[in-house]
Amino acid sequence: MIDEQQIRSIVESVVASVAKTSGTALPKAGSGAVTPSLSPQSMRPVASSAGLRGKDGVFDRMEDAIAASKRAFFEFNKFGVRERERLIGILRRVTLDYAEEFSKMTFEETGMGNIRDKILKHRNCAKNSPGTENLVSRSWSGETGVTIEEFAPFGIIGAITPSTHPVPTLVNNAIIMLAGGNTVIFNPHPGAKKISAYALQIFHKAIVAGGFPENLITCVENPTIETANSMFNHPDVALLSITGGPGVVKAAMATDKKVIAAGPGNPPVLVDETANIEKAARDIIRGASFDNNLLCIAEKEVFVVESVFDRFMMAMEKAGAVKIESIHMDLLTKKAFISNEKGGHVLNREMVGRSTSYLADLVKLNIPEGTRLLFGETDKDNLLVKEEQMMPLLPIVRVKDFDDGLQCCLEAEHGYRHTALIHSKDMDRITTFAKAMNTTIVVANGYSNQGDGPDDGEAYMAFTIATPTGEGVTSPINFCKIRRLAIAGSLRFV
Ligand code: NAD
Repeated sequence: MIDEQQIRSIVESVVASVAKTSGTALPKAGSGAVTPSLSPQSMRPVASSAGLRGKDGVFDRMEDAIAASKRAFFEFNKFGVRERERLIGILRRVTLDYAEEFSKMTFEETGMGNIRDKILKHRNCAKNSPGTENLVSRSWSGETGVTIEEFAPFGIIGAITPSTHPVPTLVNNAIIMLAGGNTVIFNPHPGAKKISAYALQIFHKAIVAGGFPENLITCVENPTIETANSMFNHPDVALLSITGGPGVVKAAMATDKKVIAAGPGNPPVLVDETANIEKAARDIIRGASFDNNLLCIAEKEVFVVESVFDRFMMAMEKAGAVKIESIHMDLLTKKAFISNEKGGHVLNREMVGRSTSYLADLVKLNIPEGTRLLFGETDKDNLLVKEEQMMPLLPIVRVKDFDDGLQCCLEAEHGYRHTALIHSKDMDRITTFAKAMNTTIVVANGYSNQGDGPDDGEAYMAFTIATPTGEGVTSPINFCKIRRLAIAGSLRFV
């Protein structure tokens, strides 16, 4: 077994070699130095070669990535579960060492979120993504023999990753898919293609330096809808893993492949009169402001029972959020949703994941530096309530009582079955809420991240929370087939 020190030295030699072959002065891992911005030159082939060899897992053509992945899958079959766990250790180490660099580069490329939280996101993902320990086989015996059920790989998995968390989704997917013995091809979001290809090359180098086959993870350098479609329809791709909005989920589910789909959410929060109001306010600020509200599980709108509404609004201010009057909430709503010619509206992507100061500037408001969250009262039909807006701007709605609040939460969630939160000390209400919402994740008396693997939560982490297809917070078993061996008449010894 390779120990942590050996993994570190593998990664360091990988970094040195990436820097040497690409002609780019990469920072020493974990040094905190600012990574040079990704010029096309720095993304030139690291080990340039035509055809199937790709460039450390990065290919020009989707068809070549698939062919290389197929070859890699057969080679990977020779590696047992312990070896796969060693591979996962390498991915975790590289993610921890590069958390800062990956975060800065993601921010430079996408302009969304904030670096501080992105670093945490990478670290959480490295530490809390489940590995091969998740693959617990089952066996039982009886008078006529023994049955064993184990987890076998699907083969080549085609994965779509979002612009909101490009590298955390990539590495989380790689960990849980490789744990099951699969190989994976990524069609990253075009808006995050440079950081995705860059990170993939770093991971790929470390994997190969660790003694594993090439192309266990691959991607295309220029992902498009066309490359996604050729991945969706290629006969050698066994399974699709989709993490993104409604458009891509619909497109993947129209194929004839098995799909594990992690779609959009619009998580509502209900605060009732029994809740610890001050703690609820602190938790809501923490969850809703994280990475400027980019997470699909983040608190997106809050319904507060009338009798504690004013106290809650004061508690939010006291805990550091900045209250916005209704005139400015309306102005921001108008800017966040652009009317289209069909009489509908579309989300203004320019505002997604932007900072509170960016949003405040749009409506000429002065707010204290470092403000993590803006909030204000709206009615329940406001678009900020109804749509998944992904901004550090939280609408708060007054409701009559628990029952009224629950109805509002159901409406705002739109049946996505994603995430819902409640702050209440009444266990019966928590139970009623969880049952009625029927979402993949319900968090009670906590902040949203506690439902998906932070250090202070009791849950493993996934960046692919399979909502429409029902696998839930995904883990290696979701990317495996269950195989049964039935041994008749033998191996019984009593
Ligand atoms: P997006 O939907 O804009 O893009 C996701 C990916 O799909 C991109 O790679 C994009 O190029 C591709 N794509 C879009 N339409 C396509 C089509 N018709 N055919 C093929 N490919 C297509 O998502 P985004 O803005 O990057 O991410 C944010 C969205 O993802 C939010 O809705 C969020 O809730 C959701 N999300 C869900 C989860 C989850 O676990 N459920 C996790 C992260 C993000």
